[in-house]
This record gives sequence, structure tokens and C-alpha cells, in this order.
Amino acid sequence: MKIILYDTTLRDGAQREGISFSVDDKLKITRRLDRLGIHYIEGGWPDSNPKDMAFFERVTELRLRQAVVTAFGSTRRAGIAVEEDTNIRALVAARTPAVAVFGKSWDLHVRHVLNTTLDENLHMIADSVRYLKDRGREVIYDAEHFFDGYQANPAYALQTLAAAAEAGADVLVLCDTNGGSLPATVADVVAAVRRATAIPLGIHAHNDGEMAVANSLIAVEAGIVHIQGTINGYGERCGNANLCSIIPALQLKMGLDCITAEQLRTLTETARYVSEIANLNLYPHQPYVGHSAFAHKGGMHVNALVKCGESYQHIDPALVGNRPRVVVSELSGKSNIACKAQEFGLELAEGSERARQVLQRIKELENRGFQFEGAEGSVELLIRRTHADYVSPFELLDFHVLVRNRHNGNMAAEATVKVRVGEQVIHTAADGNGPVNALDVAVRKALLPFYPGLAHVHLVDYKVRALDGEAGTAAQTRVLITSTNGRRTWSTVGCSPNILEASWQALSDSLEYALLPGVTLADEEVFASLPIPERIAPPEPTTICLGNRCIEVPDLRSHKVAQQFLALLHLVDPLEERIQEGVTSLNERLYRFSPQGPEILRAVRDRARKRLRPVQSR
Ligand SMILES: [Zn+2]
Repeated sequence: MKIILYDTTLRDGAQREGISFSVDDKLKITRRLDRLGIHYIEGGWPDSNPKDMAFFERVTELRLRQAVVTAFGSTRRAGIAVEEDTNIRALVAARTPAVAVFGKSWDLHVRHVLNTTLDENLHMIADSVRYLKDRGREVIYDAEHFFDGYQANPAYALQTLAAAAEAGADVLVLCDTNGGSLPATVADVVAAVRRATAIPLGIHAHNDGEMAVANSLIAVEAGIVHIQGTINGYGERCGNANLCSIIPALQLKMGLDCITAEQLRTLTETARYVSEIANLNLYPHQPYVGHSAFAHKGGMHVNALVKCGESYQHIDPALVGNRPRVVVSELSGKSNIACKAQEFGLELAEGSERARQVLQRIKELENRGFQFEGAEGSVELLIRRTHADYVSPFELLDFHVLVRNRHNGNMAAEATVKVRVGEQVIHTAADGNGPVNALDVAVRKALLPFYPGLAHVHLVDYKVRALDGEAGTAAQTRVLITSTNGRRTWSTVGCSPNILEASWQALSDSLEYALLPGVTLADEEVFASLPIPERIAPPEPTTICLGNRCIEVPDLRSHKVAQQFLALLHLVDPLEERIQEGVTSLNERLYRFSPQGPEILRAVRDRARKRLRPVQSR
């Protein structure tokens, strides 16, 4: 049996507190959902705001594989002709092949919220559905508050469905709008509706009783074939039914067909992508797709997992694109360390002297307040550093941070750092909005000419925790930093009574990790990750001048990229033809990726290396 997946992340999901999608965000998510194999994507409510209308205009430019874009709206208002209703008109104007229309199923709402008669509500439903069917739309009828309505007045709730069905609705979606129903009720109500109509049924569940996924799955068993939900369960209050849990359950546990196995493997990536765009951290313990969904800490579990993957996991994480993780802490045994090393693709025999050293070091550091559970980047570095061949890509020789409270009340911070890369010592200074930021900027400035990939590394999270509260400001401080280069995300840790030192430890681990083979972006990738400007938005030209040479950068997003590139070029003087060619080429490449890009980038970097003069340390 084929189950139809209907995503409403862009409409109901965007109702979550703290989420605000731009039109570009919505287009990006649409593309991703299409790739995941979602059948219907609800784009928004065209009558509610101009942003949603703009989405419907621009979405036609995307070449979607199978997803049908759907506009959402309500039935006509009471007491007016359907063709005069602005919301119905906006639904037609959105020009989507399918529309979702919601109507009232609960007599209480009809009488006290709409302030109309039960009979008029039936006409409102029928008129609206018929009007849209007559205009060639596929009509998805959302029966709002259906479960509550059915409890209050089952005969009337069924009449509302019959009104939609007779007017030609293609699917009748039963909504648990207040999200308080329990699975047994949902199963009974769906079965009763099933007996009353032959039209395909769907469910739209909210999560106020933490039952949205359970209610959706039991509704499938009771005969529904269309499920509405959102990525990561985003939605108003406690959220909507989480498609990231529903899809693998349908597919892997109930044996139902909804997307391909290959698409299912992109589930974790999609969940993270959408959380990134929503600017929310993905809950690490989220089933199936969370970072900790398959994390194992107990030594016994780890031991068993090594022998047999199924022993402590409900599914093979690879099926949903996630991976098992071994958590390393002072509770770890030698097998955790060995497993962890294997996970990183490093050689470390369980009984070896190096394994003993690593474990010893972790226990020592945790004793001093470090915590490695959430800092896999630091663990990997710790293991690598025990290898005789490991050479650190840079070394911090000295830093100096100055924080000043200016006369006007503005705080200013400035950092000076001295860093060694190979034989060279680089001395840089930078301002920042705080001492850690200034330090970060100064170090990057020193390293960028050697490692341009660092231009793409940025901090996504910076957490500070005082360990012994009673010691007040003298407490040991632990800093946890999460960084990303757009392709990978990693966390590192530092700990010291001095918050700057703790921050420096976490920060330098983070940058060192970014430079590991397999993590660092190759020149080709640095280029490939430059944004392709979208031609849809009118370009805002910006001119950047280097000495007396000026280049025009076609739009602001590109401006940022060009600035990063120019930061490299600034170190190169005089500008030789080859470099100038690089700039021109980069400029054009903002529209067309030139194949010489990586080569030019390499040339610039080599030149920068030669040009840098070592600073004499006194
Ligand atoms: Zn809803």
C-alpha cells in the first residue's frame, strides 16, 4: 500500500515560536523535501501575507521531481458568495495544482467561533470545495478539530465530511487540531469514518499530548492513506506530527511504501538542513535523526555492539543516513576508545600502549573539568596526537587580549596573537565584539593565507559553564564550541579557571580539527561552496577596490565571498597579472564557475606564503 506524505513545514511548521522563513528559505526547503520524496508540499496561505504569495510565484521556477505544491486556505466566509471571498480568490490565484481547504467539523466552533448555523457551515464547505474543483484543482479537505467534533456530535461531524465528499473533495483529512487525542480514540474514529465514506482519508495530528506520531501511525492501521506532518515536528505549541519519525516507521517497521530506500538515507541530512535554515539546533536525542539517536556510552553496550550491531539498536542507523557513535568519557573502557578510533578511521589496537595513554589522558583531563562526551573533535585530536607522525598545523606562541570600557559605554576588545606555521611566525591583531571574538578573528587572520578553507569555518555554538558554583567567579570554567564548514560539524572543549584560556583551548582545537585530512575543504570544494547568486533577485552591484584597481561584484552575497578572497589578496603585493586574472575570474565565476578557480586559489595562497615575513620573537 502506498502512503502519501504531505509536508506542512512551510505553513504549520512556520507557526512555531522562533521560526521565520524568508521566501528563499522556503524555496530551499521545498527543493530538499522534493529530493526526500515528499509527495505534497504545502507552501503557505496565499491570503495571509504577500510573502506566501511571492513563494507561489517563484516556486514554479523550481524543477521538482514529484512534489506537488499546495496552497492552503479556509472555506468561504459565512453569508457571502464563494466567488466574492478573498481567501478563496487568493487560493485560485496561487495557481497550484492542489489546494488544501480547511472547514469546521465541531458544532461548538460553528456556533461560537464562526457565529453561524450548522447548515450554513455545510454550505460553506460544499461551495468552497466545488468552486475549487470546478477550477481544476485537486482538493484536499482538512476537517479541522475532527476528533473533538466527533466526540461532541458524531452525526454532524460526519455530515461535514459528506458535504466535502459530495462536492468532489479528493481526500478527507481528519485533523487533531488541539493535539489532545489518544491513539485508541483516533483508531476508533478513523474506523467509524472509514465505514461512512469511500473517499481516501488522511490525518493531520498535533503533538500537545505527545501522541502526534503514534496517532498518525495508528490512523494508518485504521485505514488512512495520507499523512500530514512537518520536518522535526516543527509547529505551533508542542508541534505537529514529526515526519522524520513517521517515515522510517512506515517504511522500516510497517513495511509500507512511501519513499525509496535511497531517499530514506537522506532523512538525517534533511532534518539537519531544515533545522539549520530554521536557525534552531536539532534536538540531539531526536529519534532516528538526532546526533545522539544511536550514541552508546556504557562500556558493556559498546562491547556488545562490536560483536553484533543489532544488540543495542532498533534499526541500522545507515538506513536513515545516521550513524552509530561511541561516547567517550571517564567511564569508558579500552574498547570505547578503540571503537571511537575506528569510527574516526584511525588505527588504535584495543590493548595497545597508545590506547592506554589516550584513556589515561581523558581520565586526567575529565578530572580537571574537561568533558569529552560532547566534544568528539577534541577526542579525535587527542587520539591523533598520540601518533608519532602527527604534526600540528599551527602553534599559538603568544596572545594578548585587551578589553576596554569606552567613555560612551561601548565595550571594545582587541586581540594580538603570535602563531607559528611551519617555520614562519605570524603576528596579527584584530578587533572583536568581545575578547573571544577578537581572539578568534586574530587567529583566523594569521592562518587564512595558509589555509583558505578556514574562511568557511564558523562557530555555530559557544557554551560556557561554571563548574563549581560555590567558587563564584573563581570557578573552573568549561567552554564547549561547535563549528561547521558547511559540510561537517564538530565540537571541541576547553577547561580552565580562566575563561579566555578555556575558550582558546576549545577554539584552537576547533581550528586544528578543521584542518584535518577529510575535514578540510579541498580547494575545489572551497570554490564549489561559493554561493551561486540567484538570478531571480535583482543584483545589487558593489565595487571593491584594491589600490587603484576596482572590480565590480554582482551582488551582496558575492560581496562577502569576494571579501574573503580579497583578504587573501591583501597579503600579496604587488598585484601581478596572474592574481589580477584570479580576481576577474572569480568575479565572473560568481555566475559561472571557472574550471581554473582552484588553481588560481592555490597560486594566490603560495604567493601569500612566500610574501609573509617571519616576525622576530624577542
Ligand atoms: Zn495544524
